[in-house]
Amino acid sequence: MDLRIGFGTDIHPFAKGRALRLGGVTIPFERGLAGHSDADALLHAVADALIGAVGEGDIGVWFPDTDARYRNADSAKLLAEVIRRIRRKGYGVVNLDAVIHTEKPKLAPYRAAIQKRLAGLLGIPKDRVNIKAKTAEKMDAVGRGEALAAQCVALLRKTRQRKA
Ligand code: MG
Repeated sequence: MDLRIGFGTDIHPFAKGRALRLGGVTIPFERGLAGHSDADALLHAVADALIGAVGEGDIGVWFPDTDARYRNADSAKLLAEVIRRIRRKGYGVVNLDAVIHTEKPKLAPYRAAIQKRLAGLLGIPKDRVNIKAKTAEKMDAVGRGEALAAQCVALLRKTRQRKA
């Protein structure tokens, strides 16, 4: 069986006047994340894990932040493009496990919604998408509430031979 593992990580600073998007879900909060796209750190970590698993570099190569097309881009659309490309290479997602690091807001009320959305984007059952949320115990930029970080590990399996 041809299995591939990938790992992705991302961090964005909080900023006023931005919507907080996590896993393709809008989370009610007084601040959002700053970035070239919608700054969805979780989707960026997931995308990087998938790109890494197929050995295709990183999200910055695929979607340069110097490219005006990706300004305020919906990261769910970027992830959909990543999924299309890994499928074209013959791979499907087996499961993924992700961690969101943030001091605020408390994410427990939104975990199920994020899990459902991510599973939908990936086209896999919800029980194959695990989302954890942690604080940084008031240490570092995350702990001071200045930033939110995400990490993801993903397992892919080759489901068919690559199209010629
Ligand atoms: Mg990012």
